[in-house]
Amino acid sequence: MESADSSADSSADSSVGTPKDAGRLQDGFGRRHHSLRISVTDRCNIRCFYCMPADQVTFLPKADILSFEEIHRVVSVLATAGIRRLRLTGGEPLVRHDLAGLIQMLSGIDGIEDIALTTNGMLLGPQAVALRTAGLQRVNISLDTLREATFQRISRRPGLDRVIAGIEAAQAAGFDEVRLNALAIRGLVDDEAEGLVRFASQRGLVMRFIEFMPLDSDRNWDAGDVLCGDQLLERLERHFGPATPLPRPDPAQPARDYRFAGGQRVGLIRPVTAPFCGACDRLRLTAEGALRNCLFSQQEWSLRDLLRSSASDAEILQTAQACVAAKQAGHLINRPEFEQPTRAMYQIGG
Ligand code: SAM
Ligand code: SF4
Repeated sequence: MESADSSADSSADSSVGTPKDAGRLQDGFGRRHHSLRISVTDRCNIRCFYCMPADQVTFLPKADILSFEEIHRVVSVLATAGIRRLRLTGGEPLVRHDLAGLIQMLSGIDGIEDIALTTNGMLLGPQAVALRTAGLQRVNISLDTLREATFQRISRRPGLDRVIAGIEAAQAAGFDEVRLNALAIRGLVDDEAEGLVRFASQRGLVMRFIEFMPLDSDRNWDAGDVLCGDQLLERLERHFGPATPLPRPDPAQPARDYRFAGGQRVGLIRPVTAPFCGACDRLRLTAEGALRNCLFSQQEWSLRDLLRSSASDAEILQTAQACVAAKQAGHLINRPEFEQPTRAMYQIGG
């Protein structure tokens, strides 16, 4: 695994330790945290097998979920300590009523430079323009297949046509960036990979493949199910010709992007076979207000009780700093001592 200190050193600030850094979110490996992923709900309108149980899902009671005002306060406090980029996720973020209203509130916070959304796309069609108008800049839409039967096998619900309509609406709404994400699972996307790349390319979009991670609530993940990024690239090269790696402008960007001779672009996110923990600058806020320093961490720092008491902003920031300080060098997926977190992807926020 890539060690945290090696690649983080280059981005660490030489002024570390000076009084002006007192509020910064910097971990023990020199990694500064600039990104916050906010789960706005654990609810979802579909039931992807790699994420949620098929049925009898117990969702959080509504009273336990942070209000928009509480999310706004957390972001305002963390923005004073260097958080610049936000990504709204879930569960399915678009099932939360008036997400555009939250985006408008967040886009007014000093220091916030970028607001993005990860969605399954099914509810995007009718909301795309309002989200854009509210200040949403970028959208990632999950698209694992172009076949309705496979869509239903994966998500245990119908609706591929609504996802495609969501993609079209996002493009028409004029976001700065629209990306498509497919999960790289052996036996699932292998024979669709070329079709997905072609679909994206015809629309001027980048198709990204993410290696399947052990975060499924059914706990059926097996290393053999991961369609490794390198194998996927080889397969795509057989079809599209040699791929050229593109420069990575942001070292904290998890994807490695490639361009094929015919102009098609793909991104590969390889958390299992090539972890990018060394340059990680992300924190996560769960729907019920717990901060996590990693998808795979076993520990959380609750902000909700602080938010619902008379705690000061300084106390909220101290809790966030404690969360960052406890961050490990990297995840242990490839080690025998790895333990899958008790929460599944939809409960953390992907
Ligand atoms: N519902 C939205 C969606 O599906 O895009 C946002 C939340 S979802 C948890 C965020 C991302 O996590 C999706 O791209 C999804 O494919 C990915 N994901 C879910 N389970 C995963 C797993 N076990 N391994 C890797 N990625 C996963
Ligand atoms: Fe819902 Fe997204 Fe999880 Fe699929 S991956 S079940 S769409 S939260």
